[in-house]
Amino acid sequence: MAGIWFPKTSKGGFDLRYSWEVRDKGINWQPRVPVNSCYWEERIEGLVAAANDRRQSGAFLRLSKTSATHNNWSLPAIGACPVRDESCQECYALSGWYRLDHPRQLDRVLRLEYLQRLIRENKLEVWQDWMVNKLNAVVSEEPFPRALGANALPQSFNDGGAMRYMRWHDSGDLFEATYALAIFEVCEATPSVAHFLPTRLGALIKSLVQKGARIPKNLSIQVSVHYGGKLASVQLQAVHDVLKIQPSARIGLSYVVSGPALRKVDLRAAQQTFGLNAVVCPIITAKAPKDRVCAGCRRCWAADLNAPVIYPKY
Ligand code: SF4
Repeated sequence: MAGIWFPKTSKGGFDLRYSWEVRDKGINWQPRVPVNSCYWEERIEGLVAAANDRRQSGAFLRLSKTSATHNNWSLPAIGACPVRDESCQECYALSGWYRLDHPRQLDRVLRLEYLQRLIRENKLEVWQDWMVNKLNAVVSEEPFPRALGANALPQSFNDGGAMRYMRWHDSGDLFEATYALAIFEVCEATPSVAHFLPTRLGALIKSLVQKGARIPKNLSIQVSVHYGGKLASVQLQAVHDVLKIQPSARIGLSYVVSGPALRKVDLRAAQQTFGLNAVVCPIITAKAPKDRVCAGCRRCWAADLNAPVIYPKY
């Protein structure tokens, strides 16, 4: 078991100097030891004991909730994020409750460890079966909004009945190709569930589609881009390339934009930059906390290259 200790730097980023690893029944700090290491070693030892309990009991294997969505599959930030860009410096999954709620953070790490073990043992279908059963049992929430381009959607999205909604990776990402393909299969096996997958792995999706993989009809993929960032053009090209091969795929872009103050976003300015169909995420603009939810919006479950979702950075 190992981790990164990252006190915020004066510039607001994170500092990777303090990493730790449990080895030979002790905690090794690398390469520098924080001044209050005794205090942290005690805390880490408690977490290691809790991790062992949860690993043995299987308690870590579960869906989770966020303030915005009901059904999420959450993996550790950084540890399950092979591609990172400028937005990741301020990732919400590295701060607030994500950082402070140690039991939930442990479960994220244990889920990644579990998936990696199954991949090594060529048994990922064990997790896929668990996930399919779990998703077929989650509660239906609301009908899929008719305004969101119903043409390319499966019939179950159009019959006006309440749908089940799944959001992959409120934290973490597609950490390898086998896992991404397993998610595609889970989506195929749960046609009555609307799936939303945000990712920075545009290149991986493109490569899978080039090799013949089909993006399931009930899966909406939003490739996340830091506007003006180092990966912006590569991600845009990846989405275009996927759509060339699979024009009906529901894949689009979401942009993280630095600058505008929280909840004071000028929609017209955003539309001038990103097109008239661009949408600023209502969670960012809603004044009342009760309105900062995906229910009633569901834009991210209907990815469309012509209707990017904008997240002003905060
Ligand atoms: S744009 Fe809509 S669906 Fe997407 S995260 Fe924001 S509220 Fe949720």
